[in-house]
This record gives sequence, structure tokens and C-alpha cells, in this order.
Amino acid sequence: MTNFPDIASIRKDFPILNEVIGGKQLVYFDNAATTQKPRIVLDALSGYYEHYNANIHRGIHHLAEKATGAFEDTRRRMQKFINAPLSEEVIFTYGTTDSINLVAQSYGRKFLKEGDEIIISTMEHHSNIVPWQMLCEEKGCVLRVIPINDEGELLMDEYEKMLSGKTKIVSVVHASNALGTINPVSDIIKKAHKVGAKVLLDGAQASSHLFLDVQALDVDFYALSLHKIYGPTGMGILYGKKELLDAMPPYRGGGEMIKEVTFEKTTYNELPYKFEAGTPNIADVVAAKYALDYVDTLGKDNIAKYESELLKYATDAVREIPGLKIIGQAKDKVSVLSFVIEGMHHQDIAVILDNQGIAVRTGHHCTQPLMSRLGILGTTRASFAVYNTIEEIDSLIKGLHKAKKMLG
Ligand SMILES: *Cc1c(COP(=O)(O)O)cnc(C)c1O
Repeated sequence: MTNFPDIASIRKDFPILNEVIGGKQLVYFDNAATTQKPRIVLDALSGYYEHYNANIHRGIHHLAEKATGAFEDTRRRMQKFINAPLSEEVIFTYGTTDSINLVAQSYGRKFLKEGDEIIISTMEHHSNIVPWQMLCEEKGCVLRVIPINDEGELLMDEYEKMLSGKTKIVSVVHASNALGTINPVSDIIKKAHKVGAKVLLDGAQASSHLFLDVQALDVDFYALSLHKIYGPTGMGILYGKKELLDAMPPYRGGGEMIKEVTFEKTTYNELPYKFEAGTPNIADVVAAKYALDYVDTLGKDNIAKYESELLKYATDAVREIPGLKIIGQAKDKVSVLSFVIEGMHHQDIAVILDNQGIAVRTGHHCTQPLMSRLGILGTTRASFAVYNTIEEIDSLIKGLHKAKKMLG
């Protein structure tokens, strides 16, 4: 196993890992829902409130300037994290869901018309389905869905057949939260661009595991949430190409997003402020920078390598459990292990694991259409982060054997 620099010392950075649940040491395997936060992020949150809490951009006083500086530092840090050409292409939002809604409500409402087509995939999170359905209902657009094979991989031939001059938006998940599948996004983008469609990637799951380069991908929009990258809840970003963002109208009105307001006519602020109405979660944005620093200090490559070792170990180990079927067997996967066990309800499995202090997620993982395609109601999902260990996976396996004994 890789030991970079030392998992024991990484674990010390996450105070919550010391929690004891019903007499058992917490084993946290619900990282695809949200990751835990390192001490430097927690310190940044309290440091902001203790020393320079102020509203940003409008104040002349010292605290307001310091808060504004820290807020804008995160924007530049975020720009670097995804390799965006310009910092104003990074819009702060409340998370992936909010970012996708922004594109649907702003770009979609302005540029799409009746009969235009939007392509998503079978494995989308509800947050990359519902905003497009709302848009289709309003504008009379058509939603098309790329099918998958039984391993949980997109059928690229079918995708290619769907593309035409009518395709205006392709919006797909970069890495699936329910299956772990890493989609061939570069290929998806190239093919969409050939017919003149714009591409949005839902990067909520990919962003903590994979190296991101929006320029190399040539992607038009990229959405992510910081709480899945060891950062605070309630904030994320939308990256968009400048020429697209410039052409898009704001979709929430209020303070900060204006240049001048009169009762007759209001002019809008420039990028990125045009899309940032109201007081944002300043503390969370400020602290997010430290989460990105944390990830980059460990090194995305190191994290990915370690997590794939965990995934491989866990995958091999669960295969030994009779009646267990892994859901999502794509060749390229992030560290998400979803499974069902014959004759056992996922809810019951989770309760027994919880009694061992092991936190997993069960159910449809906000991907109900995917679950119906696979003919199941839900899965048990263990998802791994940089602070997880082989010993914890051994506990999970032990817990599953116990569950089998009790329920089987
Ligand atoms: C978590 C997740 C989302 C939603 O993110 P929010 O932070 O809840 O807005 C969307 N897509 C995927 C793939 C996710 O994992």
C-alpha cells in the first residue's frame, strides 16, 4: 500500500474521525455524500468569524477589505484548481445543484426554443435531471437520455446517434456518485461540439478524485460542490466560458449583481458579480481555499492512487461475500463501491453497520431513474476518501458478514 506521507498523520487532520459511535470508533464511508473537513478548514471558518467577519465588496473599512480580499483569493485559487483561463469565469454558487440550475435558467431560457434537444444520461443525479425537465416544460424542449450497459458505462454509439443540429446542450456527470463510473468526457465534449452543442459537466463527484483541467477538456460549463472536496457545505462553483457567461442574463436579482438601479431600468454588474446576487456564504468561500490547498498539498495524483488501492482492496474483499453483487463495474471508476446482497434489504444492512459505527449510504443515491434501469430499489454504498484505511475496510467486511448471519 501507498503510504503518502502517512495516513495516520492525515487522519489526525480530521478531528471528527475521533468520534465514538455507540462505543465503536467511527468508520466514515459516506464520502460520496459529503467529505469530512480537515482542521485547517475548521480553523479558517472560525478565524473568519473571530477576526474579520464583514460584508464584502462594498465596505471601505479594514474588516470589509480583508474579507473581500480573502473571498476573491478563493476565486483565484479555484481558477487554478480547475485551470480556468480567467478568474471571472468562476462563479460562486451554493453548490452543484445551484450551478446546474443557473445554466438551465439563464442559458437555457435565453437560448433554447421549442423542439431543441438536451441530452443527459441514465446515470444522472436528480440535480442534473430536474432542472432540465423544468426547462423542457417551460420551453417545449426535448430531453434525451444516453443509455448504459449493465456494467454502468455509457453506450457511446447510442450517444453519437442522438447528436444532431437540434442538440443544444449535453449535460452529463463526470463521475457517477451511485456507480463510480468515470465517463469519457473528453470524447463526449468533442462530439457535442461537432454539432454545435454546449456541454456541462456535473463534477460533484469527480472533483475530489480527479485532476481537473477545463481548458484541456474544452468544456463549456463545469459544476462542483466544495463540501465533497473536504470543504464547507453550502458553496460550490460554476465555471463557464467567458463568452457564454457574458451572453447570459442574470437569473437572480438583488444586491451585488447590479451596476445601477433606477425604477425605470437596472443595468447589471460585470462578471462574475452579475450571477452573485445577495450576500454569499462568505465564511464558507473563504475557508474553501484551505480545502483546495489541503488537497493540492497531498497531491491529487497521490490521493487518486491511494483511493484506487482502497477501492481495489474493498472490491476484492466484498466479492468473497456470498450473494453480494457489485453495482457499477465500469473499467474506470472513482472510489465508490455500490452493492446489493441477495435476500437482504439495503436499509437493514445499513442499520447493522451503523451499530458497528460504520457509516455507509443506502437507497437510490438521488439517481432513481438509474436504479429503475438496473431493476433495483437501491444499493448500499461505501465510498472512500483519503483518510480511510484498509483496517476500516476490514471492519466493513466483518460487519457485512455479521449482517449476513443476522439477516440471511
Ligand atoms: C452530490 C452530487 C450532486 C449534488 O451536489 P449538491 O452539493 O447537493 O448540490 C450532483 N451530482 C453528483 C454526481 C453528486 O455526487
